[in-house]
Amino acid sequence: MHLCPRFCMRPIREIYPLLTEPRKIVITMHQKPDADAMGSALGLYHFLVSLGHDVTVISPTNWAKWLNWMPDCDKVVDFELNKEKSDQILGAAEWLFCLDFNTLSRTKNLAPRLAQFQGVRILIDHHQQPEVDKFAFGISSTDKSSTCEMVYDLITSSGNGDRVTKEIAECLYAGVMADTGSFRFPAAAASVHRMVADLKDKGLEHTKVHENIYDSYHENRLRFIGHVLLNRMEVFYEYNTAVISIPKKDLLRYEIKTGDSEGLVNYPLSIMGIKLAALVIDRDEERKWSFRSKGDFDVNTFARRYFEGGGHFNASGGRSSDSLDKTVQRFLEAMKENASQLQ
Ligand code: 5GP
Ligand code: MN
Repeated sequence: MHLCPRFCMRPIREIYPLLTEPRKIVITMHQKPDADAMGSALGLYHFLVSLGHDVTVISPTNWAKWLNWMPDCDKVVDFELNKEKSDQILGAAEWLFCLDFNTLSRTKNLAPRLAQFQGVRILIDHHQQPEVDKFAFGISSTDKSSTCEMVYDLITSSGNGDRVTKEIAECLYAGVMADTGSFRFPAAAASVHRMVADLKDKGLEHTKVHENIYDSYHENRLRFIGHVLLNRMEVFYEYNTAVISIPKKDLLRYEIKTGDSEGLVNYPLSIMGIKLAALVIDRDEERKWSFRSKGDFDVNTFARRYFEGGGHFNASGGRSSDSLDKTVQRFLEAMKENASQLQ
């Protein structure tokens, strides 16, 4: 028999019967939300609003401006800029949906507020090793392509498939597209394609979403990528590994903003034989790592073991408070320690 721990996350389907009663609801996601975090939050927002709930999306931090096209993105509250307002809204809310993260620390300075939240915390997420004791209800499923797919599942399996509007379809498609690398990663299962077919039936213009996300950068971002790939990437063929390290002066020179470095870590994986790609950026407060792998190298465990991070098997992130040089040295040592798994 499976014994529940003292606090046990109950299945999300138990909230379905409760969805009909209007409530005050907050939706939040991980810091520096990406397309999946913002898309799932706004997709769920539109759905809950259609049911008559009073809903606010609070982001722990700012986000890339290429997400601003999402319907009602202008209503999202940036916690860092509106702490008092966020506290008020959180204080009055009965439900708190936590999307696309599973440890409160992923929400940076918002985390203590989420920990103190007096209402019901609900998790919808696809990362590994969730803090299940923090959530009253939820679903954590690492084989799902994206949190957007999970929000779609919630809407349809609660019997509300007919509430999926064009706006919801655009938000949810953005996250699935981004988290599956435009439907190329293994998590893009048949069910994902079936969902997209349904979103198309509901009016989705997928080319528009693709252009909004991938074709809306400034010239400087492309020049930055050129510079970085030429001058900041090292390839270690004996370890099937490549690392890109970006000093602060590059960020200043190319006027790099939140979101401009998105996708950069994937480039080295296009070199034949490379199994592990790592990117570190010298941010003001910390050195931020992104890891991507191909095949059987587990970057979730790698990020947890060496860089206080986590994520998925083939995509993860972490951090370090060391200098850029020191944290790169640490990475190279870790790479050597993992030589056998990298063959
Ligand atoms: P990215 O490299 O795109 O920032 O993140 C890759 C994946 O790892 C995402 O799913 C992201 O949520 C997760 N991730 C990134 N940084 C961290 C971190 O510091 N801690 C944990 N637990 N997950 C992270
Ligand atoms: Mn995601």
